[in-house]
Parts: sequence; C-alpha cells; structure tokens
Amino acid sequence: MEKQSSTILLRSLAYLKGVGESRAKLLAEELELYTFADLLSFFPFRYEDRTKCHNISEITEDSLYVQLKGRLRNIQSMGEGGKKRLEATLEDQTGQVKLIWFQSIHFVRPRLKEGVDYLVFGKPNMFSRHFSIPHPDFELFVSSDKQAALTPIYHSTEKLRANFLDSKGLTKLVRNLFEVISTQIAENLTASILGKYELMPRIEALQGIHFPSTASVLHRSLRRLKFEELFFVQLKLLRLRHVRLSKHAGLPFTKLQIHNKFFHDHLAFPLTNAQKRVIREIYTDLNSGKQMNRLLQGDVGSGKTVVAFMCMLMAIDNEAQACLMAPTEVLAEQHFKGLQPMAEKLGLEMALLTGSTKRSERNKMLPRLAEGSIKLIVGTHALIEDEVQFQNLGLCIIDEQHRFGVAQRAKLWQKQPRLFPHVLVMTATPIPRTLAMTLYGDLDVSVIDEMPAGRKPIQTVHRYENNRAKIYAFLESQIQQGYQAYVIYPLIEESETLNYKSLMAGVENIQQHIPTASLSVLHGKMSSKEKEQSMAAFAANQTQIMVATTVVEVGVNVPNANVILIENADRFGLSQLHQLRGRVGRGQTQSYCILLTEYNLSQDARQRLKAMTETTDGFKLSELDLKLRGPGALDGTQQSGVVELKLANLAKDGEIVQQSRMAAIQLLEDDPTLVKSEHKQVFDFLQNEQQNPQKQWGRVS
Ligand code: ADP
Ligand code: MG
Repeated sequence: MEKQSSTILLRSLAYLKGVGESRAKLLAEELELYTFADLLSFFPFRYEDRTKCHNISEITEDSLYVQLKGRLRNIQSMGEGGKKRLEATLEDQTGQVKLIWFQSIHFVRPRLKEGVDYLVFGKPNMFSRHFSIPHPDFELFVSSDKQAALTPIYHSTEKLRANFLDSKGLTKLVRNLFEVISTQIAENLTASILGKYELMPRIEALQGIHFPSTASVLHRSLRRLKFEELFFVQLKLLRLRHVRLSKHAGLPFTKLQIHNKFFHDHLAFPLTNAQKRVIREIYTDLNSGKQMNRLLQGDVGSGKTVVAFMCMLMAIDNEAQACLMAPTEVLAEQHFKGLQPMAEKLGLEMALLTGSTKRSERNKMLPRLAEGSIKLIVGTHALIEDEVQFQNLGLCIIDEQHRFGVAQRAKLWQKQPRLFPHVLVMTATPIPRTLAMTLYGDLDVSVIDEMPAGRKPIQTVHRYENNRAKIYAFLESQIQQGYQAYVIYPLIEESETLNYKSLMAGVENIQQHIPTASLSVLHGKMSSKEKEQSMAAFAANQTQIMVATTVVEVGVNVPNANVILIENADRFGLSQLHQLRGRVGRGQTQSYCILLTEYNLSQDARQRLKAMTETTDGFKLSELDLKLRGPGALDGTQQSGVVELKLANLAKDGEIVQQSRMAAIQLLEDDPTLVKSEHKQVFDFLQNEQQNPQKQWGRVS
C-alpha cells in the first residue's frame, strides 16, 4: 500500500490531468513543483471566506477587500489601444458597483454573462464619487450549499497566470490530484497517537488544508499536519541519539579522587544546588560507558566555568586528558588565568594554546600533549588544528557553543578515533525549551537554573542623550566607592559614516567627564597581546573603566565591575544586550545596567529595551526575542541545520512541539527500532522520506 502510494506520489506532474508537458515545465520553473507529492504539499497561503457577503450599499471608502453577490449587467468594452478596458455593473438589492478590467480582457470577456448571478471578490476604489472594483476575482454563483466556505488561495506568478494557472487554475489541479491519489495516501501516525492527541486522519487533514469546509476544519487540519511535521523531525533526531547511545562507546569514568579533593578542600564557595545537580547528570553520562554529548545551558553568571573544571578533573582521575575550548583568545586566556591557580593547588599542570601561541612554545607543548604528560589544556580553535594530537583525550568542553559549528564539533571527535571523547557544550544563550528540544534533539540537555546565593538583580534603566552628564556623574560615584564600570559601543571608528558614536570619541568624552578614572580600551582591531594587557589591567583594578566594543560580550568575568553603560543600545539584539548586561552582577554588590539611546526609536527597539528593564531572566528574554525575530535570529540555529519547517512555527506552536516530542519519545521507548506491526506506518513513512528526496529527483530530470 505505502509502496504504491509512494510511486504515484513520485509521478511527474506532466501526467496529471490538466497539466501536460509545457505546463509541467512552467510549474517546475516557477514554483519548484515537480511531482504529485510536491503539489500535494503546495498549501494555500491564505483562504477567502466565501460564506460572508457584503451588501453593495455597505461599501465605504475604508473598505478593504469585500465579497459581493449580485447580478451582472451592462458588459461593455470601452476605449481603444492602450486605453482599452472592459466594464460591467454588478447589482444587488442594495445598490450597484462597477467592475473594471484593463488587462486580460480577451480572457475575462467570454466568462461574463449578463443577467446571471456572480460571486465577486476585490478591493473597491472610489472614482469620481462612484465605487468600482478593478480586476475582481469572480465566479458563477452556485446555490449556496455547493459553494466552498473557505476558498483556498495559492501563490501564482505572472507566467503561470498567462497559462491559466492562477490561484483558481491551481485549485483545479489540486482537485484533479485528489481524484487520483485520495485512496492512496497512507496514514503515517499510529492509531494510539491519533487517539491520544485527538488528531484527524492524514487524508482528511490534507483535504482539509486544501479545501476546508469550515474554519474549524482548517484549524484541525493544520494542527494535525504541524504535529506530523514536528513529530517526524523529532523522531529522526531522537533516533540519531539512540544510534549514538547504542553504538559509540565512551571511556567509562569511574574514579573521582582528585575531583573529590577539589570539592572538599579547594572550592572558594558552596556550589548551588543546580550546579551540583548538573555535575551529577554529567557524571552519570561519563560513568555510563557511552559517549556523552551534552549541552549545558546556564544563564550568564550562573557559574558554568567551575562545573567545567570539576568535570575536567574527572577525566584526570581516569587517566585521560581534558580540553576546554573558547571562542575568542580573550576568553581562552581568561579561563586559563582563572583555572590555572586551581590546577596548581592540586599539583596539576595546565597549558594554553591559542592562535598567538609562539612557534617555539608550541614545539615544546605539542609533543608533551601527544605523549600525555600535559593533561589539561585550554585554548581556542587552535586546538582543532591537525598538528594538535592527544595521547588520550577523554573529555572536550566547548564554551559558548553558538560560535562553533557542528562540523567543528565533529573534528574534535577525530582527535580520539579509538573511543570518541565525551563532549560537553556550554552555552549562555538561553535557548527556549521548545526550541532546544527541537534543535538539540541529538544532545542531552542540562540546565543551571539557579544563580549563586547573594546575587542582587541588576537594576536596568533606559535613558536618553540629555541624561549623559548625570550618567557620567553616576559612574564616577560608583568608581569612587571602589567599583569598576564598562562602557560599550556597537562599532569602531570606520563606522562613523553610519552615524555611530565612535569608540575613540567616546574615550575622550569619558576622560573629560570623569578625569579621576583611568581607562582600558578593548576592540577588535587590537592585537591579542594588546587585548590581553588591556583586560589584565582592568581585571587587576589598575583601570576603572573598560571602554569596549562587543568583544566583552561573552564570558568576561570581573566581579568588581558593577555598572555597564551601553551606548546606542537600540543597535543590539535582545540576546546580545542580555549577554552584555551579564558582565555585571557577578558579585555581591548591587549592579546597574544603563541603556542609552536617541529619542527616535523603532517600535521593535522600544520593545527590546522595555523588556530589558522589566526582566533579568534570560529565558524570558529569549522567548521574546524568538517572538520578535523568529527562530533564525537566535544564535546557533543556522548552524544546526536541522529545522526546515513548512507549516509549524517554533515560536508559536510550542504546545504542538511538546506534544509531538512526547509522542516520539514514548514511541521509541516502547519500540526503539520501530519493528512492531502497529508502528509499521511510521517506519514506512520514515524509510520513504529517506529514500525519496523528491525535489532533487525532480530537478535532475
Ligand atoms: P558563566 O556561567 O557566565 O560562565 P562564571 O562561571 O564565569 O559564569 O561564574 C560567574 C561568577 O560566579 C564567577 O566569579 C564565579 O567564580 C562565581 N561563582 C560560580 N559559582 C558560584 C557559587 N556557587 N557561589 C558563588 N559564586 C560562584
Ligand atoms: Mg562563561
């Protein structure tokens, strides 16, 4: 059954009634429709409600589209040459309106008959005190019960319209399609899923989305098809994960000596419960004998670094090496500086490898890494270069994952071909749960959802230019109390043309207003040596203000800084603003974030800034970001290459995402390899999808 239906669905559209060779070519060129299956999933982009008709007398100057039912009178061709037009009058009990065509007259004229009732749809214009409707959509009025309640509107193009394939023409083709395939569309969800989640059968949903008889049918059809779409996306990811868990062995970590010693003797603070929980979750993976692939999410400042370090110690406890990879040199160096003293206390050596590590140093370091006498290493992308070899890499931690692609992750695996190293990916980009579940379906997720005790929520305000003097005075007062401040600019000098405040002008301005403070500067054009010196001076409190572009965005940690002033704050996205704000509020003191902008702001920018002043919850902010900008805008989602959804919207269909995920998980728990007979239709559909990359097939021919 499924076999047969899949073959008919793969048939070229040229063989569909009403198409033929030349139209098939047009459909392929204009709409990328090649096969029966392509047309089946070419859904209407909107519907017109044909159940409601206006009275002609109700038309006003403000009317948008209206639908009218009336009798046609006075069909006339007028004008000559380029001014030629066709006019007719539509009349109902309440009045008259003129219908006008300037184009396709030869096509329209034969379809108009005087004295006959028509259903007309269009946008009225007012012209010399009379209403007229140019180029209305029209069809013969048939007794009302035969008229479809919602008329599907399909995208078309000029070329297609010229070949009678306007929306109406396409509608006809879809009807022809259903005539030949409707008995052959197999269900692809199980009876129990259909029952449990109250979903309509597949064939009904497909008919319902093309030809809905009521709005409720349309709604239920959409829900069913979105569910199906999300269900199969997640099922595929979960199966990948299953394959990974069942195939890739990982070095089992069983001993915890050094780890425990650190925990008892050297921790500077008690871990939060959330930190303890995720360490346990990670250890369970590491101990399992299977390769770990885990995503660790935690809002900025939630304390991911110490968790990473303690996991690295687990590797050492088990005679393996561990690496920590950061997206920038500044961050790698900061991690190194923060972690090396802790390693030293435990009598362990830690190395640092970045793009600017000198050749001579490399030549000393790399052989020792390869023979295993260096066990802990921190670095940047430099770590994945081919010359970097390990003796026994057991754990690889990637900080701030959104800067690394999947391909780079895979390259790390190759460093230890015998047994893949365990991988822990850490991100502060608080991906909403619904999205994380879909995007990272192949990763396990741990969340640090608790801040270290004693943190005070950062006070955030939005201010305008006229407050600048006051703001500088505030910065100065904080500095006089011994604190430090960041001042962040969106771009540097050459962007002057775009009317951005330049970083250097800002430096001068600050020096004038706050002469008592000394400044560090950090921007992308500096060499890594300069950056390092600049960061070091600020971290050691030798300078009080760090004036920087967004290079401080991720990870930088100076707990004594308690104010961040963000210039042109409207230029930043919501998640970026949240990351920047996370540079303060990392200690016990009250911290402040000042968002400075001009008066003139877009609606969107205003919403972002308002959200920033209202919440410090990164998850709430990213939910909002998702609503404002859509999933593509979230860091990292493009690289994931997983989501290409036709119907479902991750931002809006959260509930369906959750339900379909639940259904997929339960199905696989019951039957991981989908061998049971009651799961056959699910299995067949997956197989067919994998075997029939329909579009590619069509494009080749
Ligand atoms: P992030 O999760 O943003 O990477 P960090 O790991 O840089 O955060 O930690 C932020 C700050 O909080 C650091 O100064 C760190 O030492 C401190 N910290 C981490 N865990 C705790 C804790 N349990 N109690 C108190 N301070 C902590
Ligand atoms: Mg960090």
